[in-house]
Amino acid sequence: MDKRFSYVDHLYCPKCSKKYDAMKVNNLCTCGSPLLAMYDVEGLKENADKQEISRRDGNMWRYSEFLPVADPQNIVTLGEGYTPLLEMDSLGEKLHLNNLMIKNEGLNPTGTFKARGAAAGVSKAKELGISNIAIPTNGNAGAAWATYSAKAGLGAYVVMPNNAPMITRSECTAAGAHLYLVDGRINDAGVIVGKLCEKYGLFEVSTLKEPYRLEGKKTMGYEIMEQLDWKPPDVILYPTGGGLGLIGIHKAMKELKEVGWIDDANTRLVSVQAEGCAPIVDAWKNKRRESDLWEDSYTVAFGMNVPKSLGDFLVLDALYETGGYALSVSDEEILEAQAMVGHNEGLFVSPEGASTIAGIRKLVDNGWIDKNERVVALNTGAGIKYPKSVTVDAPMLKPEEEITL
Ligand SMILES: *Cc1c(COP(=O)(O)O)cnc(C)c1O
Ligand SMILES: [Zn+2]
Repeated sequence: MDKRFSYVDHLYCPKCSKKYDAMKVNNLCTCGSPLLAMYDVEGLKENADKQEISRRDGNMWRYSEFLPVADPQNIVTLGEGYTPLLEMDSLGEKLHLNNLMIKNEGLNPTGTFKARGAAAGVSKAKELGISNIAIPTNGNAGAAWATYSAKAGLGAYVVMPNNAPMITRSECTAAGAHLYLVDGRINDAGVIVGKLCEKYGLFEVSTLKEPYRLEGKKTMGYEIMEQLDWKPPDVILYPTGGGLGLIGIHKAMKELKEVGWIDDANTRLVSVQAEGCAPIVDAWKNKRRESDLWEDSYTVAFGMNVPKSLGDFLVLDALYETGGYALSVSDEEILEAQAMVGHNEGLFVSPEGASTIAGIRKLVDNGWIDKNERVVALNTGAGIKYPKSVTVDAPMLKPEEEITL
């Protein structure tokens, strides 16, 4: 069989099992469910080779066989992915863990893991001949899609809450996107984008309303496994808003099992949310398959402020199937954890990333994580995108003044 660049086969509805053509433009299934990209497993088994992949360039396109873009010419890249999996020895010691690692997604273009989803989504949009995209966002996704759209020559229409991190407005503007602010939350932005797309025929790329953002995000799972020499860790913690990264990592683990690159992984997936917006935690505690809309949500970890996710049932499936856990942490605990990582490891993590460390603290305390387990926390974004999350205390000096310690 000839080697192909991508082994994408079709799109599949996890609710009603309907199939769609991956070379045609698709959003949701007719039943309203998100669609998932499916691959030719036999072709992958025959032609994809993990040794060969490990010699490729250090970005997420090294897994091209497992990604949806059929023609390499359509790839729009700024070097996203293959971020370091850092050992956190002194932080681990503080948390009574012998094997704590942080995957530092802050090193991606645009400073967050949203670059992965945007790179995959924009590349596929280009392949499908789309010329304009529209997106509701809490900031980081809009910044990433604006950036990759500029690189691809697509028009980008971004709608975000007016209290989203300021820097993300600048990023959208720098990339020449059409930016709108809304006095509301991401769900409100979503309604506005839905109407805009209907009226003008723009392509809607809200979380899971197009199938390929997820494919970019799943590469975090591929990388974690490759970086650990294809020996899955015991626990992975993910700061959850819409939950796409967690769904993606779960999908990656299933695909890698199917092609036989990892053994029957026992990795437990953990969803960490903020106390001020914890619909998934609520649903998980009540053993439900879907979540309810969280009213009046608020958290300093802005990327996790998603009152109701279209993919909630997929997040919950991932937690149930892996014997995982869902828990919430307060904003105070998040900021404390952020300082703890910075002081002990020199890593300035985003509030979202810090929430996973706050989560670990609780799960070690209640005995759910054992001290010898291999634990991976995702720092989904760079702390430098959130300068206001740190309170600076620096005395002001006159030029002739001396410092007394
Ligand atoms: C968007 C975002 C999240 C949450 O991602 P979901 O896929 O929506 O769960 C977490 N951290 C950061 C920094 C984000 O920008
Ligand atoms: Zn369906």
